[in-house]
Amino acid sequence: MIIVMKSHATAKQIEDVVQWIESVGYKAHPSSGVERTIIGAVGDNRDKAVLKYAESLPGVEKTMPILKPYKLASRESHEGDTVINIGSLEIGGPEFIVMAGPCAIESEEQLLESAYVVKKGGGQILRGGAFKPRTSPYSFQGLEEEGLKVLDAVSRKTGLPTVTEVVNPADVDLVESYADVLQIGARNVQNFALLKKVGHARKPVTHLPVVIDPSHAAGNWKYVIPLSRAAVAVGADGIIVEVHPEPEKAVSDGAQSLKPEKFYQLMDDIRALAKAMRS
Ligand code: MN
Repeated sequence: MIIVMKSHATAKQIEDVVQWIESVGYKAHPSSGVERTIIGAVGDNRDKAVLKYAESLPGVEKTMPILKPYKLASRESHEGDTVINIGSLEIGGPEFIVMAGPCAIESEEQLLESAYVVKKGGGQILRGGAFKPRTSPYSFQGLEEEGLKVLDAVSRKTGLPTVTEVVNPADVDLVESYADVLQIGARNVQNFALLKKVGHARKPVTHLPVVIDPSHAAGNWKYVIPLSRAAVAVGADGIIVEVHPEPEKAVSDGAQSLKPEKFYQLMDDIRALAKAMRS
């Protein structure tokens, strides 16, 4: 249900409505627009009739059913774009964001070298996997906590914030203590035990803004630059892309990883396209 506040509703009235929604067992998602605040009430649909009572609360103009099945992402309940802040960096704002780095963290030297390439090229966030959900149980599974420590050390040395994948609900607290953004891989988008756990995390888990992964989409470095250009052209908020100083020696996903010079070319293309689209 969506509760539409009157345009002159006070902060206190909005807060009272939020508290009332939560008192009847629903989660309130307030969203302040230029003109007015709307509050999404998300919960068990079976007894949503109780939410009609909100119309009698001070400051409320009307209630409306949420028509879209994707309640949290719908513009109905959240008018503005979703913007995630990491320090001074905005994901989902006007700037196109590039998250880049190796598929897997292999050593501090490898990640540091990758981070310098990312930074030199103008990428804003360092990616690198410490927990790897591989197709084969015989493949390298990641350095786990040792890898997270390397990620943290390289982040401190270079000033780049980090994104890394979490694959196990039991590891969420650990990953959250080292990384700035938690990544959920394609294999885990229906792993509800994991999604529930990351839902309680204090760090962002990005269902929105829209970030494209051209590396895993293609599986081959040749298509990564064209797909990244396409991501800019369709208005995505950013990309997450695999870059490795020596792809031929990478322990995972070497075939789709960009060499440094290809990454610089990609960044030049993105800058040119983003500029052309703004003008
Ligand atoms: Mn990978």
